[in-house]
Amino acid sequence: MRFCLALLLLVIGLVPARADVVDTALNRAIAQLEDALPQLPAELFEVDIAAYRGALTFRKFASRYWGGTVSLQVVEANGEETSCNRFAAFVRLPPQAGSVSLVLCPQFMTEGADALRTLTILHEMVHVVAGPDECRAMAFAARIEYAATGRFTDVARYWNANSCEGSGFSLP
Ligand SMILES: [Zn+2]
Repeated sequence: MRFCLALLLLVIGLVPARADVVDTALNRAIAQLEDALPQLPAELFEVDIAAYRGALTFRKFASRYWGGTVSLQVVEANGEETSCNRFAAFVRLPPQAGSVSLVLCPQFMTEGADALRTLTILHEMVHVVAGPDECRAMAFAARIEYAATGRFTDVARYWNANSCEGSGFSLP
């Protein structure tokens, strides 16, 4: 009985915390985009800003890239996602039946810095609206961060690992 009670408290304690972590990351990403918007063109690195904002803020967007209207589901990994061995979050592409999923892995929940989670959301949202190109996703997310805050997270290692130097995309 004592064990059950402890378990129950653990579950009650955990659920709001996880939801809070996800909501905080999403809300900060939304806020950064809103701050950046006045400085952004209609299209940046071939990412349609209106579609991007729709995906991030309203989880629904009209997509010239995929065609039609696409809705976004934000889901937690079910524990059998092999992609979670390599990523904190990933997007299942292409969309199926007008729906695309952003999967949040255990690593996403345990990362210490909220700033890194926010950047991850900004990055993954590029995949949601504009496909799998890693260099585009990194360049775009860094540009949003920079426009909103005047600085951007150092992604040099990831940038080099993906050979983004000759990609045509660039960091701020
Ligand atoms: Zn990516």
